[in-house]
Amino acid sequence: MRIAGQVSINDLPRICPTLHRQTNPQYGDHQTRVVEVRGVRFGGERPVVIAGPCAVESHEQTVGIAHAVRRAGGDMLRGGAYKPRTSPHDFQGSGLEGLCILSVARQETGLPVVTEVMDPRMVSEVARVADMLQVGSRNMQNYPLLAEVGRTRKPVLLKRGMAASLCEWLGAAEYIAKQGNLEIVLCERGIKGFPSGEYSRYVLDLNVIPAVQMLTYLPVIVDPSHATGVAAMVEPASRAAVEMGSHGLIIEIADFSRGLPRCDADQAIDAETLGRIVRFARAHQVSPEEKVHAA
Ligand code: PEP
Ligand code: MN
Repeated sequence: MRIAGQVSINDLPRICPTLHRQTNPQYGDHQTRVVEVRGVRFGGERPVVIAGPCAVESHEQTVGIAHAVRRAGGDMLRGGAYKPRTSPHDFQGSGLEGLCILSVARQETGLPVVTEVMDPRMVSEVARVADMLQVGSRNMQNYPLLAEVGRTRKPVLLKRGMAASLCEWLGAAEYIAKQGNLEIVLCERGIKGFPSGEYSRYVLDLNVIPAVQMLTYLPVIVDPSHATGVAAMVEPASRAAVEMGSHGLIIEIADFSRGLPRCDADQAIDAETLGRIVRFARAHQVSPEEKVHAA
């Protein structure tokens, strides 16, 4: 039986010819194309650790957390100025003011900033501040948005749609690449499965990491915060992701002495836990030679 729209990984050289290993033999079977964000190297010698608040709430909150990320040894700052929320009545982020706060946080700490853009009309505005543009799970198949971030030359963090297959995810990445922007880092952030919501937020699909690495030369990182939704699971999930070959982590942290964060409080870890995760990730440095042998 033939079914319209049905694809398998065998169709990937046609779906994403710009990104597939088979159509880009210069990367061989194992080489990763390093994506550099102001000196931070995704797919380089060691896993990258990005950390910060779920949402940019205030100057004091975000700048304070940025300093904590720096002290813990994190490589980059995350934080949403524009938040995709389930209800339109929930806090939607602090918008343009949030972008200014991120820019101050970068100035004070030197940490490059990744932040989400949800609307194609906002790409140039967000790109003025962001060192890396985040396309969130809910927007993974927003093709005009993907094309627009592709037209910038900014690195893009493309999160996996929560119900997206690997083919759909790589097809989405191809929309960015087709515009001439190869500065793409993929991010597994948990998918919907029958246990999701019962004991964790989503199902963390670590098995997809080696699959991504087999099929494409793009770096791939893991978000253990949104994948689990449970603070106590974030550290072990981070270690597991690194063991599975993830090129990095993106983690939500909070300063609980200031009260609870306005979004995703139950998955936020403290700076001390982040420090342990960073030390674990640092211990997984791989020299280029080892990378070739290990792969
Ligand atoms: C986020 O990282 O802020 C976020 C909303 O994540 P996701 O798009 O993976 O749900
Ligand atoms: Mn969040």
